[in-house]
Amino acid sequence: MTNANARSAANSLRAQLEESNPPDLAQEFIAQLDAYYAHPSSSFYDNKIERLFYEQKLRHLGFKPYPKDGLVTFGASGTDMCDRQIVFKNSETKAEKSEDEAFRGRQRRQGTAIIDFVQLDILHMKKRIGDKAEFTFAKTDEGEFAFEDAAQVRKVFERSGIKFAITAKPDGILDYRGQQLLFEYKTKATGLIAMNGKLDFKGADSHHLRQVTAESILFGINEGILLYESTEKPSWFSDEENKSVPKTRKTWADGKPKPDLRAFHFKITDEMREDLLNDLAEQARLVYEKTLPKMTIEMTGKCAFCAFKGHCKSQLTAEEKAMLVEAERRYATSSLAGKYDHKNLREYLSDMDLEEATEDE
Ligand code: SF4
Repeated sequence: MTNANARSAANSLRAQLEESNPPDLAQEFIAQLDAYYAHPSSSFYDNKIERLFYEQKLRHLGFKPYPKDGLVTFGASGTDMCDRQIVFKNSETKAEKSEDEAFRGRQRRQGTAIIDFVQLDILHMKKRIGDKAEFTFAKTDEGEFAFEDAAQVRKVFERSGIKFAITAKPDGILDYRGQQLLFEYKTKATGLIAMNGKLDFKGADSHHLRQVTAESILFGINEGILLYESTEKPSWFSDEENKSVPKTRKTWADGKPKPDLRAFHFKITDEMREDLLNDLAEQARLVYEKTLPKMTIEMTGKCAFCAFKGHCKSQLTAEEKAMLVEAERRYATSSLAGKYDHKNLREYLSDMDLEEATEDE
């Protein structure tokens, strides 16, 4: 991780700690969603609203290339990538395409499908629950609902003489009593209990905060809501008395289902926006100068969805390999053995030929 990246990560962390607690916008949003989903008509769609939604989708079907201005373009959701990955992605290097675990394909498809329905549901809320629906979708200048392709923006920025672009298709821009709010939605497939445990402990994910920081820069909106939904739901009826369900797996407590939806109200500061722009300018510089940055241990925390793993490993110098092997050994004998950072590093090293790195021992 570059110093700039480390600084941004620290800022994101501060933001999530500061912002995840106070205002009740998040609670109000959850209350609106709950009122809608508890409503007896929430399973039925209104023809007119549904038609507007799908007609908008149809209008935007198709591939829309970026302008050919030669600039590095960062997608808002890709603003937390490791520096090496950015260089590979913007070079002649082809992304590695290999078969994945089948369930992961189903999981990705589940996430994509659910956001469509969340947007369609939000469009129905005024009709179903009337004034309780204070969060609605804003409209674009063209009169379309402000989400996905209809709201897509790409803007060019310059920092220290380095030009680059950022683009985003937000999950939505909400209107709340005349105020615009960014809206991002994430599904969690780790299970209800794991999702709540992680969000209670760490708050919103730092890379999701980077994404909404990028959107904040593009849309000039500095507040919003990050919504997490567990794809596992509480047991249909209470499982509190069910002896076959272990205590740690119970999905009800005190007569109520545990939350499967969690919302975080965030505020993006000028400092967060500046840090992100500076980080991206630095990454763009690496691309323009065709410089592959040195491997670091921190980078291995970002490998899970990287499509350049093979290239990355094949470009490691003997020195870098030795550094990683040595770090792995230190982790293995420390109190961090088997923990998150150690696991990431071990995973990165798992299919590598390390003979060269260890032959001197
Ligand atoms: S494999 Fe990991 S370290 Fe290498 S480019 Fe991808 S994310 Fe970065």
